[in-house]
Amino acid sequence: MNGHYAIAIDGPSGAGKSTLARRAAKEFGFLYVDTGAIYRTVGLAAHRRGIDCHDEAAVSAILPALDIRMGYNDAGEQRMYLNGEDVSAAIRAPEISICASDVSSLPAVRAFLLEMQRKTARENDVLMDGRDIGTVVLPDAELKIYLTASAEARAERRLKELLAKGVETSFEDVLRDIEYRDYQDSHRETAPLRRAEDAVLLDTSDIGLEESCALLFRTIREKLGVGE
Ligand code: C5P
Repeated sequence: MNGHYAIAIDGPSGAGKSTLARRAAKEFGFLYVDTGAIYRTVGLAAHRRGIDCHDEAAVSAILPALDIRMGYNDAGEQRMYLNGEDVSAAIRAPEISICASDVSSLPAVRAFLLEMQRKTARENDVLMDGRDIGTVVLPDAELKIYLTASAEARAERRLKELLAKGVETSFEDVLRDIEYRDYQDSHRETAPLRRAEDAVLLDTSDIGLEESCALLFRTIREKLGVGE
């Protein structure tokens, strides 16, 4: 314990982690850290250079030249900066989701980003969401949550989000993308996606956003005794 609280929220793509985590962080006064955005920033950098995102030697070679920083705007939203450029919007493109998943399976990339995540947790009360937060990044987190939902339910929600942002796509494409990432994220050798033994399981397949949110808040209050 370093004087700060840490809540780890892990789970597959599109389970609603970021929306729920952002709301919970606001409710309980924690700093919300979206670690997927950090992997996306590395994926974007590799994509822009035309590098094969599976090629560990090529991706490793660009890491020393990458200055990746997180910041927060006045509304408390996390922004990502790549060598000084705000890439918060660019990292959300569907092709960058795939690159992020690809580069995140490379041990060199995970090692490169580990200390950045731990340092943030040493300096703040954090609610951090990702794939390996409870298992690798913050194994001593005071509360670990594994948030999941069926692939179809997740694809349905992600499709709505993308269409609302004006991204043209279909249910089949979104589902394929989710299944690709699920498989790759849970089968990689380094820090695969899995539920930590001591993580509370929250399955949101059959419940809506408000109900999921209430369930998450109740879990945090019960386990941490905060925000009464
Ligand atoms: O959460 P999000 O979908 O934005 O993450 C993008 C990709 O980054 C994921 O598909 C996953 O492969 C990777 N990731 C990871 N470890 C984390 C967070 C994200 O491997 N802690």
